[in-house]
Amino acid sequence: MLTQHNAFDAMQARLRVAAELYGLEDALFKVFIQPKRSMIVSLPVHMDDGHWEVFTGYRIQHNVARGPAKGGIRFDPGVTYDEISAGAAWNTWKTAVVDVPFGGGKGGIICDPSAMSQGELERLTRRYTAEVMDVIGPDRDVPGIDMGTNAQTMAWVLDTYNMHARVHANAVVTGKPVGLGGSLGRAEATGRGVLISAREAMQRLGKPLAGATLAIQGFGNVGNQSARLLHEAGARMVAVSDQRGAIRNDRGIDVHALLKYHSETRTVVGFKGAEPMDPAELLTMAVDILVPAATDNQITEHNAAKVRAKVVVEGANGPTSPEADPILLSNGVLVVPDILANAGGVTVSYFEWVQNRNGYYWREREVNERLVEYMTHAFQAVFATTDKYKTNPRIGAYILALDRVSLAMHYRGFYA
Ligand code: GLU
Repeated sequence: MLTQHNAFDAMQARLRVAAELYGLEDALFKVFIQPKRSMIVSLPVHMDDGHWEVFTGYRIQHNVARGPAKGGIRFDPGVTYDEISAGAAWNTWKTAVVDVPFGGGKGGIICDPSAMSQGELERLTRRYTAEVMDVIGPDRDVPGIDMGTNAQTMAWVLDTYNMHARVHANAVVTGKPVGLGGSLGRAEATGRGVLISAREAMQRLGKPLAGATLAIQGFGNVGNQSARLLHEAGARMVAVSDQRGAIRNDRGIDVHALLKYHSETRTVVGFKGAEPMDPAELLTMAVDILVPAATDNQITEHNAAKVRAKVVVEGANGPTSPEADPILLSNGVLVVPDILANAGGVTVSYFEWVQNRNGYYWREREVNERLVEYMTHAFQAVFATTDKYKTNPRIGAYILALDRVSLAMHYRGFYA
């Protein structure tokens, strides 16, 4: 069933390397190599034209030793069981790397949200929530936003869950609208985590972020928030791409003008302040910082040797294949791995959950300051582990996570 380069294979490949180097005991390895619980649901939805469509949805929990499962719900035509399993496992490692008290989960529905009306999306989301009702909850598994879902989707999940449970538990999901218990700063949190990671990585190379050149692959939520924040911190974005194409300007792209253009046209293509370029070339440009923020499996054995960026900050999940890791390492490219670089989102999701449970809300400045604290702490811990085990930062991050999750598993013991 597994194909050669799927995301779950890529996760398992890193887990194997990290487990070996760390000396993980066999029993725990066997537990971590697969999800703890998977739910597959069939979702009949009444479409606007009167016919019924039946969608397939997943909710997968990889590990819950350190706390309730946590992870986004993805709406995308390319969703597969393996992709969602990989996402659940990555969230186990991510929440452990930033040291928030959650396990790893992920959900998804095979659908094309861009081709559906708001009414259809609402009915689909509510039916999904009703079906996974028994496995989610503030103390069980807390969904959040991901590709193809947004604050409105989370509001529908919250309402459906609460209607069925006869409670008001807004900690059941994160990424909610701010007027419904959402946290200030959540919308830009992943981008802010990318900014913090980039700054720390440059500091490790003894270089300032101000004036550094930057290329970003992908201009969805993560790509465009990263572009804005890095630009405001003084980096010079010289290239950016989206699903329709790529643009470059060696003197620097005016990011605020681009954001305005993008909000009107939904693409970066055709922006006047830059020239069109081949999107494949963006990944191999000689820049200080490359942020792959599109999708998985972009830097592979085919192009890794050509990557000339000094630092790669992985905004997307799984953008680098396992075969590319040693190539980047031997070429001296400093990679800030996904399970650290894009963990800003899940960190502020944790802050949202904490605020919901306290019924006491923080100012945006407090959210951002705490995020800096969590992310820089995680960054230092990952690099200390990397140095200790003389490995690359990705395996360093996995080892740090394995250490923390194993510790929790040991305290709890196996219940058999
Ligand atoms: N979309 C991110 C993920 O699943 C974060 C989700 C969340 O905030 O729970 O990794």
